[in-house]
Amino acid sequence: GTLPAREAIGALVEAAYAQFREERSGRVADYIPALAEADPQAFGICVANTHGDALAVGDAGQPFSIQSVSKPFVFALVCDALGPDEAAARLGVDATGLPFNSIMAVELRADRTTNPLVNSGAIATTSLVPGASAEQRWRAVREGLSRFAGRELAFDERVYRSEAESNERNEGVAHLLRGYGRVYCDPDEATDVYTRQCSLLVTARDLAVMGATLAGGGVNPLTGQPVVSADTCRRVLAVMATAGLYERSGTWLYDVGLPGKSGVSGGIVTVSPGKGSVAVYSPPLDEAGNSVRGQLVTRYLSERLGLNLFVSA
Ligand code: GLU
Repeated sequence: GTLPAREAIGALVEAAYAQFREERSGRVADYIPALAEADPQAFGICVANTHGDALAVGDAGQPFSIQSVSKPFVFALVCDALGPDEAAARLGVDATGLPFNSIMAVELRADRTTNPLVNSGAIATTSLVPGASAEQRWRAVREGLSRFAGRELAFDERVYRSEAESNERNEGVAHLLRGYGRVYCDPDEATDVYTRQCSLLVTARDLAVMGATLAGGGVNPLTGQPVVSADTCRRVLAVMATAGLYERSGTWLYDVGLPGKSGVSGGIVTVSPGKGSVAVYSPPLDEAGNSVRGQLVTRYLSERLGLNLFVSA
């Protein structure tokens, strides 16, 4: 199947925007000082299909730091480079069920792997990005995520500095993992590249194109360029389905039935395999770290577009 025609989608996206515009629940993240400055009213939605059509409303062109939404895309680059079996063996692909920054997550399994979509596994993932130095790995991350977006992504130096100055927890996670041989380069360098990766600037429109690239078997719908293999996309989407929304991942799959990934800056991307992607930007978060309006809009649209993967007819 495909997504409905542009007019039908446009009306639905407008209706979702109007319906949830006045929603005021949730709290903007403040544990990274620069994130606390986000405008809680900012609200943008974009739906993109695998043919390069995109429909956007509200603040879908407003840049924000990508944060954890970078994780599945960096995992895709690593999965593509190492192959899915080695990537899974070195990183783990089971949901931890624990908060994104958990140290206990590292101690859960005998082999000390976690999951590429929580901080421990994401730092490990970044350490596996091909490159002979931190500088080369950072360049590969930035170029790789830019290929997913179909344009060159800028870097927010202020957000990076702000997080780097209060990053003890991620540094601790990286050192613990290194003790178990589960970070594959210098742990401080891995944390630094990971923190840079989280500070890349995207818009809801970018996230929709990035999601549509995963939906379309790894081919960017805007540029027509292959970014990763179709096999990689399948693996990445499986990890997103089971672990993309922090500790609420099971609830999300139960309600929406689609792979997604959220981040603490308020971005959320959801993928409908073979069809396209829904992306929302709205900074106020629930207790777990998921955009409140992002979840409401995605649920609204996916139900009306009939995107739930578990629906039989
Ligand atoms: N850079 C953030 C951190 O490592 C990302 C967190 C997130 O979006 O879940 O704490």
